[in-house]
Amino acid sequence: MSRNQVRIIIVGAGIAGLSAAQRLYKEGFQDVTILEGSNRTGGRICTTDFGRYDTSAGLVELGANWIHGTGEDNSVYCLANDNNLLKPYVLLDRDGRRIPKSLTDKAWKIFQQLENNADRFYTGSSSTEETITSFDYLIKSMRSGLQKFPKSVREDAWAIYREGMSNCQAASPGVVGTILKDLPVHWIRLNHKVETIRWQSHPGSKVTVHCSNNSKERTFVADHVILTSSLGYLKKHHKRLFSPNLPQYKMSSIEKMGFGKVNKILLHFKNPFWDKGTGSVKFAWSGHDFEFNPDTWYKSLFAFDEVLNNDSVLLGWIHGRAAEYVETLSDDEVKQTCAWLLRKFLNRPSIPVPDSILRSSWCSNQYSVGSYSYVAVGSTDRDLRNLSQPLYHDGKPLVLFSGEATHPKYYSTTHGARSSGLREAERLCNFYSAKSKL
Ligand SMILES: Cc1cc2nc3c(=O)[nH]c(=O)nc-3n(C[C@H](O)[C@H](O)[C@H](O)COP(=O)(O)OP(=O)(O)OC[C@H]3O[C@@H](n4cnc5c(N)ncnc54)[C@H](O)[C@@H]3O)c2cc1C
Repeated sequence: MSRNQVRIIIVGAGIAGLSAAQRLYKEGFQDVTILEGSNRTGGRICTTDFGRYDTSAGLVELGANWIHGTGEDNSVYCLANDNNLLKPYVLLDRDGRRIPKSLTDKAWKIFQQLENNADRFYTGSSSTEETITSFDYLIKSMRSGLQKFPKSVREDAWAIYREGMSNCQAASPGVVGTILKDLPVHWIRLNHKVETIRWQSHPGSKVTVHCSNNSKERTFVADHVILTSSLGYLKKHHKRLFSPNLPQYKMSSIEKMGFGKVNKILLHFKNPFWDKGTGSVKFAWSGHDFEFNPDTWYKSLFAFDEVLNNDSVLLGWIHGRAAEYVETLSDDEVKQTCAWLLRKFLNRPSIPVPDSILRSSWCSNQYSVGSYSYVAVGSTDRDLRNLSQPLYHDGKPLVLFSGEATHPKYYSTTHGARSSGLREAERLCNFYSAKSKL
């Protein structure tokens, strides 16, 4: 079978699915269909207009915002860099002094190496080693890593590490647009929700994908399916989605891995009350225990940040069970509470109630069912690898898995998601290259 006859279905038009499609197109596959349940592409990358008045500024991100890292192994950084989409993230110290990019780059390289060592320590530690947690190990090696910087810049280097070593900003909308430009428009079918994937029933080792499109039923038969649904979605629906069920090892990893809850609250003020360039207000509650209490949900709102290129908007972050709970509250209640919080912590009773509010709702979003994955207590990187394992039939990868939660290292990020999509496209390329040599 030549590549242009191979029928591939990709479930999901987030960055993982689109990246897989982009690679397949480049490699000569021609019969690819992307089934996307929602009415838009991008998935957990969601750029929208908010607070725009007279200027061209006004875009905000309800999902992914930052590109974490500037290395060659960061597939989103590379794509954004190649397409001139990057806006450098300027790190300033508390006196408003700009920290040079050369230092950020150096810190990135050194600290990433140390994190890799900590990873190896964690996966390879034997029972005879002294009892030290990977966190202690990391902190200890970070301290010695700092010695690699001249004394005068050590404090800056540490600040860079604390900032999550993110040095690029808001290329996400551009990134999705750039990938879309490479794809035939007819490959993408929006509003096509995949209901079941039958992976052992069809003669000739094919997969049958059953989906609904505006209450109409549709069935696709394919040689391969690449599934990119979020881990949150899989946790909720894997038993219903797959027929027969997934193998036990996969179900167990889906259950063990964690899927977090994070939401964004954007407040627009016609007359911004803060001094531009202030950066961020972080709320440090004294005596805050970490038990969720609906009456004090706002204690899980941990910061309000300025938004780059959007002068009249503040971005609030909320996490954990409170992130889910806040989705049940009215806009007005959230607006009033946010104004109260800002007045209280900044000690400025005159701060007005925001003129408008925009919120993400990743927890109740039927396709994301939460925000992003993490290695929960009781799970390990082996679970991430299990999630990425394809389902085979006679050596043929029938159902392939990508999406951020399947990346063994960069799970939870856009570059992890993109790399996982490229990885599964590559798997199919290798499969057909090997076959053509037989
Ligand atoms: C609030 C928030 C902030 C974040 N910040 C950052 C950040 O700053 N930097 C960073 O790198 N990452 C960040 N992330 C994480 C990043 O957004 C994700 O890791 C990445 O976008 C996931 O891409 P994906 O393609 O794996 O999944 P998704 O984007 O979830 O794509 C999956 C797609 O599949 C569709 N789908 C699912 N099930 C079905 C079905 N049954 N039928 C049809 N379609 C289906 C969904 O609608 C979706 O479009 C953030 C995420 C959130 C929520």
